[in-house]
Amino acid sequence: MEPLNKNTTTSSPQANVADQDVPTLSLVVPVFNEEDVLPVLFDRLRRILEHLGESYEIICVNDGSTDGTAELLTEAHARDDRIKVLNFSRNFGKEIALTAGLDVALGKAVVPIDADLQDPPELIETFLKKWREGFDVVYAVRRRRNTDTAMKRWSATKFYQVINRLSGVSIPANTGDFRLMDQRVVRVIVQLREQNRFMKGLFAWVGFRHAEITYDRPERAAGETKFNYWRLWNFALDGITGFSTVPLRVAGYVGMLTAMGAIIYGLFLIMRTLTHGVDVPGYASLMVAVLLIGGLQLVVLGVIGEYLGRLYEEARKRPLYVVESSLGLKFDENK
Ligand code: UDP
Ligand code: MG
Repeated sequence: MEPLNKNTTTSSPQANVADQDVPTLSLVVPVFNEEDVLPVLFDRLRRILEHLGESYEIICVNDGSTDGTAELLTEAHARDDRIKVLNFSRNFGKEIALTAGLDVALGKAVVPIDADLQDPPELIETFLKKWREGFDVVYAVRRRRNTDTAMKRWSATKFYQVINRLSGVSIPANTGDFRLMDQRVVRVIVQLREQNRFMKGLFAWVGFRHAEITYDRPERAAGETKFNYWRLWNFALDGITGFSTVPLRVAGYVGMLTAMGAIIYGLFLIMRTLTHGVDVPGYASLMVAVLLIGGLQLVVLGVIGEYLGRLYEEARKRPLYVVESSLGLKFDENK
């Protein structure tokens, strides 16, 4: 039984798909070198989804894995054609893999989920319940992050504080990409084609009625995390520059204040020269001023550069990803 207020949008790629082919649920799984965990994942998903009794599809986006992931996915598709596969030509990153999955997802409700079982699939049942109550987005909030290191927890908290202060949209803290979205929300998200894909920000940007449920995030079922600190730092930069121009303004203010200081100091030097005559020593003050202003200029230029670089990336209008092959999907990026 479907909720009454779910009117499907006309521009959907599903338009030419027969009604009986539209599953209730699409799972989107970005996969990068996950051969250790895939068998466990499919096993667990099958059990849970059979129990739910909804029609479903599982879209695995192979993000340029270099291990046996591609073969495992091919086998899985041969066994069960509800498992569909999109193989990228190289690694494009999780955010883009997720986007590709959303692009092709047919389901009336779509759930992105990590391959490593850190997003407990048992929650999908609750997601569906909330969705049927009329919520368009149901997201999962981590209750405790005690499986993460203290450093990761601290940096995550700081990150959410900073980004929520700097950007206009409010991104709920301690959420990942694990959530249920109604197809009409997905249709909006896939229209946002920026290269800088900070998914949590995009999810928040689209709005719609949302509900949250809390859960404890378990550890990875197998394998290792693909995100080191450098990657997380870049992720945070993307998030902030993608959703806020406050750093540009701050850079402007810092520049203005320094210039004002320099003018005052310059006037003071002129007055002193006029009253006390030419004074040759002064190397220290000169060096301090030169270094300080030079350093600040570099900082400000760096901030501008961050934005300019991103502008350049967007201006090229390259496709977000390149698909090498697909199984069970009618692939079309421009939907
Ligand atoms: N992932 C991906 N492309 C990448 C890195 C990761 O598709 O370049 C996938 C990965 O296979 C997993 C999910 O993104 O399904 C989350 O990755 P991971 O568990 O390494 O991140 P963490 O949970 O440590 O933040
Ligand atoms: Mg993980």
